[in-house]
Amino acid sequence: MIPTLDGKNVFHAFSPKLEPAMSVAQGQEFLLKTLDCFGGQIKSERDLLESLDWENVNPATGPVYIEGVRPGEIIGFDILDIKINDHSIAVVAPGEGVPGKEITTMETALLTHENNVLNFKDIARINIKPMIGVMGVAPKDRDIPNGTPEKHGGNMDCRIITAGSRIYFKAEVEGALFGCGDLHSAQGDGEIGVSGAETSGEVLLKAEVFPDLQGLPTPFLENDHLVATIFSAETADQAAKGAVDSMVEFLTGFAGLEKNHAVMLMSIAGDLRFCQMVDPLKTVRFEFPKKILSGVSGFHAK
Ligand code: CA
Ligand code: CA
Repeated sequence: MIPTLDGKNVFHAFSPKLEPAMSVAQGQEFLLKTLDCFGGQIKSERDLLESLDWENVNPATGPVYIEGVRPGEIIGFDILDIKINDHSIAVVAPGEGVPGKEITTMETALLTHENNVLNFKDIARINIKPMIGVMGVAPKDRDIPNGTPEKHGGNMDCRIITAGSRIYFKAEVEGALFGCGDLHSAQGDGEIGVSGAETSGEVLLKAEVFPDLQGLPTPFLENDHLVATIFSAETADQAAKGAVDSMVEFLTGFAGLEKNHAVMLMSIAGDLRFCQMVDPLKTVRFEFPKKILSGVSGFHAK
């Protein structure tokens, strides 16, 4: 039996005071059944954003205590599989999202999933690419609401957090106290309207400490093709600067490149991309191709 938590085991703020809902060994696969970002409160297109109880939005399933993890250690979470529900929800509302001031009426759209395609009101069919919006570990000395992204992770809404990726965080408390939720069946870079195609589902994971990566700028993502730094800040400019600086730090500190060469290569072959522009802090990532790393570094974590 794979250790499993269902959608009753949710929390709404990453906090050092959380009581673990489950404890797993490093390398042990575990399954988290997650609610959508509305906490399951939207059941029809008549349910609008204004009717929500905001205490119950952005639930994350957990927290999971990872055995043997000490504060300060770098822990990698492998996303082995994401399964999603049979429909998604998208919303718009005045004041929400990048064009919020231009929106005059609230609307909720219930979108069906058909053979791995999202049907947008028979207007468009969009390939489903399941991803995780909220994912993180507990900070050491305060509570961070799940809606906010920061160094601990949280609501990063980063569309490359998919099955097949590994995401690294720095544990700040014993056992890390991990949780995730807020699945999207599809989302564009920036998530400009405030929601992706929001859905519930389940995520299969495993976690492990990486002593060789001590000091890694986190959150940090790795998949078969690229590595990415992820940075959240008050403005997009600050988030972009943070993501770029973090990648320079990684390429010089972990991949053996000289700083000037790292910057030239990032400028030639790397991509600075928005994750989301709509949460309390903005999130930006810097993607760098792994193919280039293989020529220069001893970085072979995944
Ligand atoms: Ca989100
Ligand atoms: Ca979301």
